[in-house]
Amino acid sequence: PFQEVTGAELAAPLLDGGAIRYANLDYAASAPALASVTAYLEQLLPYYASVHRGAGYASQVSTSVYEHSRNVLRSFVGGRTDDLVIFTRNTTDSLNLLAGCIPAGGEVLYLDIEHHANLLPWQAVPHRSVVARPSIAATLEAIEAELAGGQVALVAITGASNVTGEIFPIAETARLAHRYGARVVVDAAQLAPHRRLDIARDNIDYVVLSGHKLYAPFGAGAIIGRADWLDSGTPHLAGGGAVKQVRLDGVVWTTGPARHEAGSPNVLGAATLARAAEHIAQLDEEAWQQHESVLRGYLIERLEAVDSVTVHRIFSGEATPLDAIGVVNFSVAGYDAGLVAAYLSAEHGVGVRDGKFCAHPLLNRLGLPSGALRASFGLGSRLEDAARLADGVAALVRDGLRHDYVVESGRWVP
Ligand code: PMP
Repeated sequence: PFQEVTGAELAAPLLDGGAIRYANLDYAASAPALASVTAYLEQLLPYYASVHRGAGYASQVSTSVYEHSRNVLRSFVGGRTDDLVIFTRNTTDSLNLLAGCIPAGGEVLYLDIEHHANLLPWQAVPHRSVVARPSIAATLEAIEAELAGGQVALVAITGASNVTGEIFPIAETARLAHRYGARVVVDAAQLAPHRRLDIARDNIDYVVLSGHKLYAPFGAGAIIGRADWLDSGTPHLAGGGAVKQVRLDGVVWTTGPARHEAGSPNVLGAATLARAAEHIAQLDEEAWQQHESVLRGYLIERLEAVDSVTVHRIFSGEATPLDAIGVVNFSVAGYDAGLVAAYLSAEHGVGVRDGKFCAHPLLNRLGLPSGALRASFGLGSRLEDAARLADGVAALVRDGLRHDYVVESGRWVP
């Protein structure tokens, strides 16, 4: 049986896709590429070439694939026809790009629940921050107080927390921001792989996302949104393709996506990101959401039934817990989170994330300065994965560790 295999013996068969199915419960970090995405990549490999540069066939194919990918992404997020779609490396890159486009004198407002990617870029520009309250209503009030008292140009908000999965009301936030003349950017790194977006309907000004969380390979992300700030902001990269004219001592930058995409772009990254988006757009919405909410509900119930396990929420003051994507955050009293994660992987074949999830202000405020554990579900997740995790945690609390663990290079290993 699986449980009798030691950590060292585990790795080879699991990585080879051997008899034991490893339960990857870390979709929130990166989601494995869909088969349709891999197939598309293979189809493109013989053709790729630099875009917008050549009359040759390969360059034409690449250019058309690349530009088509923009349109696919625009419709994936429900963008307006005149929204720009700019390809970046990832969500972090997209938010850094936007930080260079905030109109002079404007402040950026953010909550303390954000991933560092939606927090640190704003520390380089005028900003204000708000500590989230236990309820959404109180948090929106706190946001409103800042909007009323400041020169806020942009409210930066996560669509779904990468720590707890809770979904923030982005349409309501946009309405509030607009009332005070501010715009909204939604960090949809976590939301986009789990919920349909409609930024035109919800009046979201900008949305950012990452391909590698959306079942596409690493290396491509995007920012989609209103053109004016993007067309006048600081070019994200200085170089070829981003210009109208260059003199030896000066430049006239171009507008449109090219302004921020200097250099040879990641055509394959953009194309596979778009392919993944097309695939997700075709999912049966009800079945898709049901699948994750069943797994999440099941896991929470099982974990909460174990003494000494705590499931963490940001908005714990809500009468009914918020709608959430397939993410569950928890800790086991008396055990270091990193040790529990190592134990789950080595002794139960379950991969979860541990640590502070690039959200130090939030984890510190939740009283978890040494981190917690996060299990996250995606399209390939099964109930048996969640069951194995819950069984593993229950066994730990009941029987303790079966192996000795030591810390090597900062990680627990059996
Ligand atoms: N925002 C959120 C909510 C995230 O979960 C992540 C990734 N953990 C990021 C931003 C950053 O994404 P990336 O590493 O792809 O830039």
